Amino acid sequence: MTDRSAEREDMIAWHLEPRGIREPAVLDAMRAVPREAFLPARLRGEAYADHPLPIGDGQTISQPYVVALTAQAARIRPGDRVLEVGTGSGYAAAVLARLAGEVWSVERVPGLAAGAVDALAAAGVRNVHVVTGDGTLGLPDHAPFDAIVAAAAGPDVPLPWLDQLADGGCIVMPLEQGGGQHLVRVTRPGTGEPVIERLESVRFVPLVGEHGWHRDDRS
Ligand code: SAH
Repeated sequence: MTDRSAEREDMIAWHLEPRGIREPAVLDAMRAVPREAFLPARLRGEAYADHPLPIGDGQTISQPYVVALTAQAARIRPGDRVLEVGTGSGYAAAVLARLAGEVWSVERVPGLAAGAVDALAAAGVRNVHVVTGDGTLGLPDHAPFDAIVAAAAGPDVPLPWLDQLADGGCIVMPLEQGGGQHLVRVTRPGTGEPVIERLESVRFVPLVGEHGWHRDDRS
């Protein structure tokens, strides 16, 4: 594959830094992960365009800015254990894997999970564990997580995620309420009520599962 590092530098200079992505570790991760390696061959030319792209099964690889925004908002530190819900292509998992110690990533569509496993292996990423299933249930056997991030929008914060969050950790997810979607950061001081901060208006595919929407049509 050709070296696309110059395009990644342009992506950082044009689409990330001017919109507030300033965390050096996040910029380094965005600089290091080749987005084209997570795309079908016919779309690789568009790898650094500032928009989502189709990856099959009606799903999309997130816009690079949104991946960076989510990673920065999650305040991931070296050594952290991260749960990602919505593996999709595996691209965001590869970015998170550069910031964290270990990433568990759950995908409900088996074909996408299999593709992500192959792409992550080909990209030499070793600290992502892809699991096929309903990510709204979390992964109790691997909890607690220092950060939980989702790439699909649900109606509420899934309760299992609150139970599986480590002390001082946070959840970053798109919430869909009242017809609009916002990326939010959820923290829980002590055992008190969760605190939800609204970050930005976003557009994600639906989070479909027991603690999400019940079907693709959101009924
Ligand atoms: N981060 C991905 C974006 C994938 S789009 C990337 O970089 O490519 C969101 C993904 O969430 C879709 O693949 C969809 O199938 C998945 N998804 C939706 N609901 C889910 C659930 N309950 N559990 C796991 N994955 C889910």
